[in-house]
Amino acid sequence: MDLDLEGLAARAAEAILRAQGKTVAFTGAGISAESGIPTFRGKDGLWRRFRAEDLATPEAFERNPKLVWEWYRWRMEIVFRAKPNPAHLALAELERMGLLLCTITQNVDGLHQAAGQKCVVELHGNIRRARCTRCGYRVEFKEPPKEVPPKCPRCGGLLRPDVVWFGEPLPEEAWQKAVQLALSAKTLIVIGTSGIVYPAAMIPQLAKQNNATIIEINVQDTPITEIADIAIRAPASKAMQAILTEVKKQLTQ
Ligand code: NAD
Ligand code: ZN
Repeated sequence: MDLDLEGLAARAAEAILRAQGKTVAFTGAGISAESGIPTFRGKDGLWRRFRAEDLATPEAFERNPKLVWEWYRWRMEIVFRAKPNPAHLALAELERMGLLLCTITQNVDGLHQAAGQKCVVELHGNIRRARCTRCGYRVEFKEPPKEVPPKCPRCGGLLRPDVVWFGEPLPEEAWQKAVQLALSAKTLIVIGTSGIVYPAAMIPQLAKQNNATIIEINVQDTPITEIADIAIRAPASKAMQAILTEVKKQLTQ
């Protein structure tokens, strides 16, 4: 391990232990990149010349539900094949150790839960679910739908992915819980988010205003870097494994 990462991971571990269970994680697409799920703004983020911003909107769905569903079916195929990586697993282990209170995620892939984490607040919904545009019934998929767009098993209405699209409000309960967590966090670990999708991107700011120590893990600088107390420039899995190792080391010292 390089010395720089080891030193930063040691400082991050100190902040986590100092928080005495009041550490919260805030994650974005970057934490799942090493599980093979492309980020929106990464180099593999394009699909058929469309941008996420043009497909993940209520207007796009009204215009062409089949096209939007084809895009989601393709993303579902990737998500259903994906496995949690060491970064998701490290967070779940910190939770089991009583050191991590909860993870607030912008991801829709369900990989935190797959890693065994119990407390997960999903700000943008989950791609494994759909809901009826007519009666609101929710459907949980075990595999991508064969036919798109899929129909509601209850009323025959059009199903839509149970995710938050650009221009839509966040689920109220999840947002309230996230704000509460941000305000009670003594340490916030921000992993793999570009920090530009609002209002989710307010979470690190709220925590900072409340004097939390901010640890940022990302492969590049982001707008959150400015308020980060500890910035680790490394892939999520490598950084989280290093932090977990340091936490265990400091616990036995
Ligand atoms: P984003 O695509 O805007 O940004 C990803 C960030 O992760 C970037 O800052 C990038 O530098 C960083 N990153 C890339 N690889 C990394 C790695 N291996 N380790 C650490 N960091 C890495 O993602 P966002 O900020 O989450 O916002 C995009 C929106 O798109 C979210 O609302 C989310 O719902 C959605 N989305 C979700 C998924 C998913 O569920 N896995 C995938 C793509 C997009
Ligand atoms: Zn219905």
